[in-house]
Amino acid sequence: MKKACVIGAGFGGLALAIRLQSAGIETTLVEARDKVGGRAYAWERDGFTFDAGPTVITDPDALRELWTLSSQDIADDVDLMPVMPFYRLNWTDGVTFDYSNDELALRREIDRVAPKDMAGYDEFLRYAAGVYQEGYVKLGHEAFLDFSSMIKAAPALARYQAWRSVYSMVSHYVKDEHLRQALSFHTLLVGGNPMTTSAIYALIHKLEKDGGVWWARGGTNKLAQGMARLFQRLGGELRLGEKVAQIHTLGDQVTEVETESGWKQRFDAIASNGDIMHTYRDLLSGNQRGRDMAHKLKQKRFSPSLFVVHFGLEGTWPGIPHHTILFGPRYKGLLDDIFEHGVLPRDFSIYLHHPTVTDPSLAPAGKSTFYALVPVANMGKLPIDWAEVGPILEKRVLAEVGRRLIPDIDDRIVTKFHYAPPDFEADLGAYRGNGFSLEPLLTQSAYFRGHNRDDKLRNFYLVGAGTHPGAGIPGVVGSAKATAKLMLEGLK
Ligand SMILES: Cc1cc2nc3c(=O)[nH]c(=O)nc-3n(C[C@H](O)[C@H](O)[C@H](O)COP(=O)(O)OP(=O)(O)OC[C@H]3O[C@@H](n4cnc5c(N)ncnc54)[C@H](O)[C@@H]3O)c2cc1C
Repeated sequence: MKKACVIGAGFGGLALAIRLQSAGIETTLVEARDKVGGRAYAWERDGFTFDAGPTVITDPDALRELWTLSSQDIADDVDLMPVMPFYRLNWTDGVTFDYSNDELALRREIDRVAPKDMAGYDEFLRYAAGVYQEGYVKLGHEAFLDFSSMIKAAPALARYQAWRSVYSMVSHYVKDEHLRQALSFHTLLVGGNPMTTSAIYALIHKLEKDGGVWWARGGTNKLAQGMARLFQRLGGELRLGEKVAQIHTLGDQVTEVETESGWKQRFDAIASNGDIMHTYRDLLSGNQRGRDMAHKLKQKRFSPSLFVVHFGLEGTWPGIPHHTILFGPRYKGLLDDIFEHGVLPRDFSIYLHHPTVTDPSLAPAGKSTFYALVPVANMGKLPIDWAEVGPILEKRVLAEVGRRLIPDIDDRIVTKFHYAPPDFEADLGAYRGNGFSLEPLLTQSAYFRGHNRDDKLRNFYLVGAGTHPGAGIPGVVGSAKATAKLMLEGLK
């Protein structure tokens, strides 16, 4: 039996390990932390469950497929619950907009906020459906290993004006600024600036529309744990708390994985789900290829980081939906500050996560779990002392949530803590504390992103946010499909 190793149990690593094991490859999944999930880690504090990262689950079919590969049912391991509305958007001028795939409700919202844009919205929908078909259905699970694959995709990219930004394309169709923001903010969910990320990413609109927005009962971490259970049931070996220190090589092949604890094993193929810079710079430091790639990656743009305030409150808020975006007074200016200028602005936009409105199991009875997330520049752009700034920003973020939604927030806080860019670096090895690996620019997508199979080390592979198609749960689960196909061919 052929043996493979997957380093890192984020969603990409878990999905790849399931695919390999389902295909009869003896697979070992090696994870540095004490739990699976990667960015979807979770903490238990004072009876509250706090999910560290992803909260919006889309394209459930891509997840179901991981179970159907071995004729199993996702429902045996994970309880997926629909979330409605998808998001409530709230602006400083008092306008709110509930965004969902309930066509009638959505049109009522457009009619209320931007009645003149109804026809433009229909045209945008057609555009989003087209890029979804080309960019996600056809190419989302296909590896781009050579430039010719990029050339093949060029006609579609040209037809959909991929060089334009999502915001520019949305603005072509709709004129109201609220609606422009409502239809373009999604790229932030994969670490992209709506002002510069390719219009191809408008496909997220269609992805959500067709597949819905979901929640895993107990938290997103339960989805990761369900995947780990499936992998182990299939006979896969999961090693937790084992940080890989080195991937050994011989000629143009990787041969062996060695962890910090001294555990060593030889494999026929190895894939890394770790941060792309950490993978090449640290894990392959003994090979010239690792050093060359680390040098190359230094020239690339990494996505911003995130500052997340987790808090548990006394009381329940049935009126605050599961996902709320509290836009700040500026949109483009704020994005420029985060993505370009690398400053910590006085104003911010907040994504507020309120899981207990869908699933009260995440807090003790009569209490609520929240997180407030603010995108911030990564540590390369903004080298500040987060130990000093963190507590100040935490206070300001909570004050803004209090001002806009929960006036007596200070009196209700039972527990709170924050997660800042250095935590991403320390816990996940995320270069510069990036939240989403490489920024999803057109010039860093597909062939120009990390390749699912390394160009030189012929049995070494990548999976996860740093490789095609990119960040987000559907993205990294898609990358696992592309990588598994290559690995299974290579292991024949
Ligand atoms: C706060 C936040 C909110 C988000 N919200 C959403 C959302 O709502 N919806 C959505 O779709 N996406 C969201 N995302 C993006 C999404 O979470 C990520 O793109 C995705 O989970 C990344 O998966 P990955 O497979 O790349 O691996 P990661 O999650 O990055 O995991 C990599 C794993 O590799 C392990 N590892 C690294 N180095 C080593 C080593 N040397 N040895 C052993 N193990 C190692 C790490 O410990 C980690 O477990 C969010 C991200 C963040 C940070």
